[in-house]
Amino acid sequence: MRQTITVLGASGSIGQSTLDVVRRHPNRYQVFALSAARSIERMLEDIREFQPRYAVMADAGAAVQLSELLGDSSATEVLAGCDSLAMVASHHDVDMVMAAIVGAAGLLPTIAAAEAGKRVLLANKESLVMAGPLFMEAVRRGGATLLPIDSEHNAIFQSLPAHYNGELRKNGIRKILLTASGGPFRGKTLSELANVTPEQAVAHPNWSMGRKISVDSATLMNKGLELIEACFLFNCQPSDIQVVVHPQSVIHSMVQYCEGSVIAQLGQPDMRTPIAYGMAWPERIEAGVASLDLFEISRLEFCPPDHETFPCLALAGQAFAAGGSMPTVLNAANEIAVDAFLQEQIAFNQIPTLIRDVMGMHVVTDIESIDHVIEADRWARDCASQWISRSVA
Ligand code: NDP
Ligand code: MG
Repeated sequence: MRQTITVLGASGSIGQSTLDVVRRHPNRYQVFALSAARSIERMLEDIREFQPRYAVMADAGAAVQLSELLGDSSATEVLAGCDSLAMVASHHDVDMVMAAIVGAAGLLPTIAAAEAGKRVLLANKESLVMAGPLFMEAVRRGGATLLPIDSEHNAIFQSLPAHYNGELRKNGIRKILLTASGGPFRGKTLSELANVTPEQAVAHPNWSMGRKISVDSATLMNKGLELIEACFLFNCQPSDIQVVVHPQSVIHSMVQYCEGSVIAQLGQPDMRTPIAYGMAWPERIEAGVASLDLFEISRLEFCPPDHETFPCLALAGQAFAAGGSMPTVLNAANEIAVDAFLQEQIAFNQIPTLIRDVMGMHVVTDIESIDHVIEADRWARDCASQWISRSVA
C-alpha cells in the first residue's frame, strides 16, 4: 500500500522539494491533496503530474480559476478556504501531512493534522512559535508523529537518542548546539545595513528559500524562531541551547552529551534531505541529493552570533521567557515587519525596532485556546500596522 500525503504549501520552495521526493518514489507515496494560496499555473502542472484527489486554494477566486482550467473531466476536486485546508490535513485517508504554508496561515491546518493523529512533517515553524504549548498538546492528544523538517531541528532529532522523551538531563544531554549560517549580512555592522534592499536580503548565500524565511535569515529572526521551535519540540529552555554561527551550513546542528561527545548531522544545504528523512522515518530513502564531498568543503568555521547588529535573536529569547501570548506577538509583528520591508515601506533595521516596540506595548495574557492565539495574533498585527503608518507619515 502506498502512503498518502497532503502537501500544504505545495507551490512553495518546501512544497516543490517535497514533490520532488515523491516523484522519485512512485511506488511508495501517493499525493492525496495539494494546496497553495494563489499560484494557479504551478498547481495546474502539479495536479496533472500527481493526480491528487483534492486541490485547495486559500484564495476563493483562484480556486474558481483553477477549477475552470482543469475542466470537468479532471479527477481532482478543487476546494477553497481554511476549512478545506483543515479537511485535507485531517482526512481519514491521509497518512502524512507536509506543513509548508508560510507564516501564521499554516496554524489551523497543521493543528488539524496533529489532532487527527497524522505523521506531521513540520516546516511551518511559525505555527509552533505562535501556539507552542497548544500545538504540542494537540500532538499528544491526537497521537500524531511530529517530525521536524527545519534542517536544524531535523539534525537535532537525528542526533538525540532514538527514544528521546523530552528529558534533556536524564538522557545525558548537556546542550543543544543550534547552527546558523549568519545569512547574507554576516560580518556587517548596523550602519552598513541601513540601506540594504529586499533583493539583497533575500539573496541567501547557501539556501534557496521563500522570500519571508530569507528575510528572517538575514535579520537572524529565523534563528530566533528556531530557538523557540527547539524549546517546544525538545522540551527545553533557551539556556539549554547555544546558537553557533557556521557559515558553510554543512553541519545542520549538534547535541552535546555530558561525557563530552558531540553528535552532529552533516549534509548538503538541500531541504530534500530532511524532507525525505521525515517522510521515510525510521527508514531512509534516496532524495536526489549529491553526496557531501568533505575535501571540496575542506574547512568548517564557527563563531558566536552578533547580537548588536542582529537584535532579533535576543528578542525571540525574551518572547519565550515572557511566555503566554508573547511568542505569538513576536511572530505576528515579525510577519508584518517583513512584509513591510519587502514592500519597501520600512528599512531593514526597522524590523527589530518595530518588533521590540510591539512587544513593549503588549500585556502578556495566558493562552488557553486557539481563539486566544488568534486574538493575540490580531492585536499584534494591528499594533504593527499602526507603527508602520506612524513611521511612514
Ligand atoms: P514559500 O513562500 O516558498 O511558499 C509558501 C507556500 O505557502 C506557497 O505554497 C504559498 O502559496 C502558500 N501560502 C502563502 N500564503 C498562504 C495563505 N495565506 N494560506 C495558504 N497558503 C499560503 O515558503 P517556503 O517554502 O520557503 O517556506 C514554507 C515554510 O517552511 C515556512 O514556514 C518556512 O519558515 C519553513 N521553512 C522553509 C525552509 C526553506 O528552505 N524554504 C527551511 C525551513 C523551514 P502561493 O504560491 O500560492 O503563494
Ligand atoms: Mg532552519
